[in-house]
Amino acid sequence: MPRHSIAFPIVVSGPSGAGKTTLVDRLLAADPLIHRSISTTTRSPRAAEKEAVDYFFVDRGRFEKLKQNNELIEWAEVHGHLYGTRKAYVEEQLAAGFDVLLNIDIQGGDRVKREFPGAVMVFILPPSFADLEQRLRARGDLAATDFSVRLAAARVEISASARYDYLVVNDDLERAAGDLRGIITAERCRRERTAADVVKRLIE
Ligand code: 5GP
Repeated sequence: MPRHSIAFPIVVSGPSGAGKTTLVDRLLAADPLIHRSISTTTRSPRAAEKEAVDYFFVDRGRFEKLKQNNELIEWAEVHGHLYGTRKAYVEEQLAAGFDVLLNIDIQGGDRVKREFPGAVMVFILPPSFADLEQRLRARGDLAATDFSVRLAAARVEISASARYDYLVVNDDLERAAGDLRGIITAERCRRERTAADVVKRLIE
């Protein structure tokens, strides 16, 4: 599918348990012009997770090397583990005309926005705190300490939603997924993102 707009990074953040991954997977399945950035992390894979699909799983030594070599656009310590985004992948995808979706925390979001001022910032909100707690519990794959760490972090993260361009309340999956697609559609139509030749060839 040809595109008429310049590709941009899409940052999706939100507390653990807000349903980010489900929403992001929906968006990616519906829109072949968006590629997901696969983060690098020092945390261990969960049961269903695969290397190079969900994350690149590395030890701390390897992660430090990536940092030293300036290979990460951003990195952050989240819930006691390191997570980072590879610069080369994001730049290659944007240059090839794909929007790049980054499912990252609020610290990473701030850094990406500084590096790419045109990044679209979307924050996924749970409908209530009780709902968030329930969804996190239903995952069943988190150790008790991880669970309480994530709940404590959630309020801090939700406060940071003030720095995002768009808020999507995930009370109904269909509607929230539609909101997310709508945001991307609108952003692609922004005048400043329109490829220069689109208007030029109409008036010359
Ligand atoms: P999880 O361990 O549940 O997969 O992810 C925990 C948190 O780390 C989520 O909020 C997720 O958005 C964030 N995260 C995942 N990858 C990255 C990354 O590359 N950079 C940053 N800053 N955060 C990330």
